[in-house]
Amino acid sequence: MQEEIERLARWIAEAKRVVVFTGAGVSTESGIPDFRSPGGLWSRYDPNDFYFQRFLSSEEARERYWQMHSELYGMLKAARPNPAHYACVELYRMGKLSSVITQNIDNLHQEAGLPADKVIELHGNALKVKCLDCGRLYPREEIQRRIDAGEKAPRCDGCGGILKPATISFGQAMPQEEMRRAEEEARGADLFIVVGSSLVVHPAALMPLYAKEAGSRLVIINLTPTPYDDQADLLIGGKAGEVLSQVIERTKEILRAN
Ligand code: NAD
Ligand code: ZN
Repeated sequence: MQEEIERLARWIAEAKRVVVFTGAGVSTESGIPDFRSPGGLWSRYDPNDFYFQRFLSSEEARERYWQMHSELYGMLKAARPNPAHYACVELYRMGKLSSVITQNIDNLHQEAGLPADKVIELHGNALKVKCLDCGRLYPREEIQRRIDAGEKAPRCDGCGGILKPATISFGQAMPQEEMRRAEEEARGADLFIVVGSSLVVHPAALMPLYAKEAGSRLVIINLTPTPYDDQADLLIGGKAGEVLSQVIERTKEILRAN
């Protein structure tokens, strides 16, 4: 592993536009289970209940959704950033980071101190709630207070429309502006680092391919294999927080010596 850490540190030191692409695996060390781990939140609910069409289909489906989401929100609220999130902030402070493209909805990159305009959220943010009719945004905390007070499927104060956490559900359209920016960032990168993503969720998983196509180096840091391992210039099969904090320390040494 030391050899891989050394190689990545050197590539970061050489790079001008690093793009980090993160998935649920960057937050497991913060106590948020990833999609596929057994016993996680997701395995206790029926995934079919979370399709966008289902959410729209009935008041009952929305009530179930909000019940699940209240549990998820409790977990997200308690989670704190881990060394992998802080490593991204360090890259930013070094002037190396172009952006973080994330599939996560947990807000932990921003909480670690990364400016919001450096984080491209492909699947939205669970700490916000959006009216599906007028687009008005509410803090998730405000809506949770209403749920705790007895509302089961909250509606918009302004227009009476259906409220939904501002995340992208299965079957819901991807956010166009974020997709455009992410693709532009991927194609502009000279070093593209995937961290903690199974790379099976599309179209998000196309980003590393765009980067590679445009001539970037591709690095994948993930505990388990991904469909794009054979495209990677470097694979590191370790824990995100442990690997990245060592990489950052080594990068700093290299930059100091130059
Ligand atoms: P995924 O669950 O499909 O894959 C996570 C990957 O991370 C796995 O391959 C796993 O081996 C790896 N991993 C787990 N812990 C790791 C660690 N400490 N270090 C390195 N690798 C580790 O996640 P995905 O690719 O992001 O896709 C799941 C979807 O579910 C995403 O669209 C995301 O929006 C959503 N989701 C988000 C969160 C969150 O916001 N924290 C959590 C669960 C799911
Ligand atoms: Zn509204």
